[in-house]
Amino acid sequence: MQHFTQAELREIEDRYQDFLKDIRNKFDKERLAKIDKAFNFANAAHNGMRRKSGEPYIIHPIAVAHIVAKKLGLGSTTIVAALLHDVVEDTEFTDEDIRNMFGDKVADIVKGLTKLTGDFDYKQAHTLKKVITTLSEDVRVILVKIADRLHNMQTLEFMRPHKQVKIAGETLFLYVPLAHRLGLYAIKNELEELSFKYKHPEEYQKIVYMLHNKEAQRNYLVHEFIQPIKDSLKAEHIECTVSHRLKNAYSIWNKMQKKGVSFNEIYDILAIRIIIKEKPEVSEKRQCFDVLSLVTDIYKPRPERIRDWITTPKPNGYESLHVTVMGPGGKWVEVQIRTERMDKVAEHGFAAHYRYKDIRTFESELDPWIDKIKEQLNNPNADAFEFLDDFKRNLYSTEISIFSPKGDEFKMPVKSTVADFAYELHTDLGNHCIGAKVNNKLFPITHRLENGDQVEILTSENQKPKLEWLDFAITVKARSKIKDSFKEENKQHIEKGKEIVEQKLKEIKITNTSNVIKKICSFYNLTNKEQLYSEVGIGVLKLDELLDIIGRKSLSKLVKYWNLSVKKRKKDEPLLLPKEEQQEDISYTLAKCCNPIPGEQVLGFLESDNEVTIHRTDCKEAALLLSSQGDKVVDAQWTNFKKQSYLTRIHLEGTDRIGIVNNVTEVISKEHNINMRAIKMENQEGIFKGDVFLYIHSTEDLRLLIEKLSKIKGIEKVTRIEKLND
Ligand code: MN
Repeated sequence: MQHFTQAELREIEDRYQDFLKDIRNKFDKERLAKIDKAFNFANAAHNGMRRKSGEPYIIHPIAVAHIVAKKLGLGSTTIVAALLHDVVEDTEFTDEDIRNMFGDKVADIVKGLTKLTGDFDYKQAHTLKKVITTLSEDVRVILVKIADRLHNMQTLEFMRPHKQVKIAGETLFLYVPLAHRLGLYAIKNELEELSFKYKHPEEYQKIVYMLHNKEAQRNYLVHEFIQPIKDSLKAEHIECTVSHRLKNAYSIWNKMQKKGVSFNEIYDILAIRIIIKEKPEVSEKRQCFDVLSLVTDIYKPRPERIRDWITTPKPNGYESLHVTVMGPGGKWVEVQIRTERMDKVAEHGFAAHYRYKDIRTFESELDPWIDKIKEQLNNPNADAFEFLDDFKRNLYSTEISIFSPKGDEFKMPVKSTVADFAYELHTDLGNHCIGAKVNNKLFPITHRLENGDQVEILTSENQKPKLEWLDFAITVKARSKIKDSFKEENKQHIEKGKEIVEQKLKEIKITNTSNVIKKICSFYNLTNKEQLYSEVGIGVLKLDELLDIIGRKSLSKLVKYWNLSVKKRKKDEPLLLPKEEQQEDISYTLAKCCNPIPGEQVLGFLESDNEVTIHRTDCKEAALLLSSQGDKVVDAQWTNFKKQSYLTRIHLEGTDRIGIVNNVTEVISKEHNINMRAIKMENQEGIFKGDVFLYIHSTEDLRLLIEKLSKIKGIEKVTRIEKLND
């Protein structure tokens, strides 16, 4: 353990004072004293510990408490828990210590958080399942966990790259949807943006660069667009603030992916937000619509793009009025209109209710959802991964109301079908469902229900769940019940099939070993023995050629792999450039610093009017050019233009073994799309290192080759080196 320097101790004090400055006015003396006690305790407990960045560990809990207080607006109990959140996990103090010093409420939250720490490397799904179980116990645990994750994402640069990608992926997978479901939009955006930055660094840089590029143009647009609105609001004596924000890089990228459009085709990168200081004498809804009509008097709205989340708020509590209008220069701009109260809910989500002591709203909104989660968790057969899939699907769905013939209301996800509703009522109704009377008309089991439908389920004793039902059933409950019924049936098939296989093997006097079973599976292209048994049990497989199969020599791995790779091989994709000004007479050279090859992300740098150098987007030289001479950078893309090959260097490392060089050259020479130019190898005390220089056509060829080289016995590491010379 290293002691902190004077400077570090000062840093800790500064951070803590910064945090106190933001909360001092919000709490009474007694609560502030509790927070102070928690800080002093945590500070002492983490004394001498450091984060990956090298800074004192206590900086992290302070930052998490700061997020909990400022961005989530939560109370002192949660702030105290946030300050203490890593104490039990990382120091010698126990749950009991916390309980004695800070009481049960704080201790329970910290305990919940401690349970959530686990390595996502293995048992990932189970850890996530734990997160969700905890969510159903005390939402504050999850809120602190989200704050914890946000700070870890903000400081992700100090982690090793592979960890960064993993943590970013996990954040996108779980924490982003959770933040969404809890209505924490600001945090959700920040998490998305940070995840995107580490998961797809090239794309992120590119979009940030393009956004930056258009800034002047955009500022002009904002000014020109907002001024008339401001004038009009002033004339009507409406007190409000008008702000604008850019869509984040992640949402732009997402849209580009989903719609297959380029950056320039994304029209609504700009959103204007009007936040009204509400007057008590008129309804908030009315005030928002008044402003909407002011805006649409000035700018023409896109009729299908008005969304009213005030009349029907989103299930996560979000209220706002959205409209897309045609701004100056024919640009579409999104305008969001809401009151100050709605804005707080939009920013803090459910936590806003919590803060306003409006616990009833908080619970009535969140409870039905949590009940559903509990129901899923109680299903003993649920596979952890399936559970998460279904859970995630439900995180994003909004709800509709369906009524039973007696008039009981059921909340169902949008796009629910007759089947979903039948299972919602009872498993037996689901299993025997043949259709329904929807508003007194007959409809099949596949029929999608609408908000307000009255539904009477029709059943038949002869009906049985069918596999196709999984194509349209969407609720967790329906899907897991349908799957369950097949598991049960399949179990019987497997048992029957196993008996048959054993009997047949006995008949031809072959001992039943795992190798024999493997051979049979591979002959029929089955992945495991359960599949084999089940197909035999159902009667699809007759096993007539059994003796023949077992006597057969199995295909060597290499041959099989070869067949596969031939099929996968793509056309060569050389280069054409630049995309924006496609002039025939432009000549390009490939940068020596990074030697890009077809398929890799590239950009071009204008050396002169008709000369372009191509770099990989992640090349360090290119990054330098981008920051110093950004105006000379042009878009570049690979196209099917002409066949060309590229000199590439591959670095190999491993344990030295007689014949290993032969094996390497053998693998390479079998690749007819790749030519070897040179090979350099050296040995040192049983370790060999070497470089192979090759002419290749595309990243796909390279990827396949690297895969094959990695499989050679003794090879430990195969990497591509950008530089051709040391
Ligand atoms: Mn932490």
